[in-house]
Amino acid sequence: MKKTLLFSALLATALGQAHAQSGLKPVINQAADAIESKVIAWRRDLHEHPELGNQEFRTAGIVAEHLKKLGYEVQEKIAVTGVVGILKGGKPGPVVALRADMDGLPVTERVDVPFKSNVTTEFNNQKTGVMHACGHDSHVAILMGVAEVLASVKKDLAGTVKLIFQPAEEGVYTGGTFGANRMVEEGVLENPKVDAIFGLHINSQTEVGTIRYRPGATMAAVDQLTIKLKGKQTHGANPWSGVDPIVTASQIVMGLQTIVSRNVNITENPAVVTVGAIHGGIRYNIIPESLEMIGTIRTFGDEQQALVHRRIKEISTHIAESAGAKADVEIGIGYPATVNDPALTDKMIPTLEALAGKDKVLITPVATGAEDFSYFQKKIPGFFFFLGGMAKGKSPYDVAPHHTPDFYIDESGFTLGVKSLSHLVVDYMAMNAPQAASPKTKKTAK
Ligand SMILES: [Zn+2]
Ligand SMILES: [Zn+2]
Repeated sequence: MKKTLLFSALLATALGQAHAQSGLKPVINQAADAIESKVIAWRRDLHEHPELGNQEFRTAGIVAEHLKKLGYEVQEKIAVTGVVGILKGGKPGPVVALRADMDGLPVTERVDVPFKSNVTTEFNNQKTGVMHACGHDSHVAILMGVAEVLASVKKDLAGTVKLIFQPAEEGVYTGGTFGANRMVEEGVLENPKVDAIFGLHINSQTEVGTIRYRPGATMAAVDQLTIKLKGKQTHGANPWSGVDPIVTASQIVMGLQTIVSRNVNITENPAVVTVGAIHGGIRYNIIPESLEMIGTIRTFGDEQQALVHRRIKEISTHIAESAGAKADVEIGIGYPATVNDPALTDKMIPTLEALAGKDKVLITPVATGAEDFSYFQKKIPGFFFFLGGMAKGKSPYDVAPHHTPDFYIDESGFTLGVKSLSHLVVDYMAMNAPQAASPKTKKTAK
């Protein structure tokens, strides 16, 4: 009886919390609507000034200043340029993290907008433009919007919000860990310890107003492939007196195609092996001594990953051997698969459905793209979803995909992003409100 009473009391407290939190939503929506033009202005400014991974100094400065103004406790230079903002709500409760990545890409923008990027840089020994060609500018602007919205309801928040502005999601080539992995290493999920993390990715091929997600494995594990091929240099007119690494590389490229078509069980999971660059040679009549091939590997699951890695090594080294050349294959282990915690996903989907409409929250197929949000999810339950950024009425087949010069985002989807993340925070807090039962109370209940 005593126990029943205690549990009723606990339930009442929890429901009271849930009610109090859900009462925040109209306020949050109003605040989000009110700052729409600000969020868009932030995004345009960031878009015009994109920065590559670990060089997001300007971006980080803008974020840190914004958070400080709003009263967040701010930590800077986490994992090089990362910024963390902590907002302690007026009531006790769980710690919820939200993450936005900040980096741009070595892509030369072709989109004709007033805020087009004209930034250029040297990357991989090539002169290139820099562009927010994955939409991370939207992520930063949306999370800056969320920061403002949540700060406005701070006293009513039953828990702590940790905003994580992360550098280098697209990777860096300086060795060592970076991005989400490094932020985790530097303790971003501790002090205060984060209970759950949410993140979104804008999508240029999903209509504005639509949210896509997938429980469990959502995005691929990505590994980097490097093949150093050594032949024997000779005059281009006398190929028989050398070993041509260019012909051998061509055979290897073709051989690698058979891994997905002939070794992987494609009825279980997709896989991708792509050679993205071949560097070798200097002159039309010289067969070079060596060349280097680099590429990317996408897999889902440990077994498939091991199979693909093994076949890459076998095919490359044996084809090289058959030509009298030598292939050194190196596979750099990259991001793990992005896996949405099924229980957390189940719990949080009603929040998004209530906001966007049930018919606008869709399950998406697995994506062969990768996301280093996975490093957070390896440590704590996390949920990552896709936010529509394609103008209404367009076809996903007609618009530019991510990482391309024509990549374009329709900004009218941002407010749904601001609301989504804010609602996830308050609903998670309501669901995980501290129980009145302290260890002491529990003891007496026994
Ligand atoms: Zn990207
Ligand atoms: Zn991205």
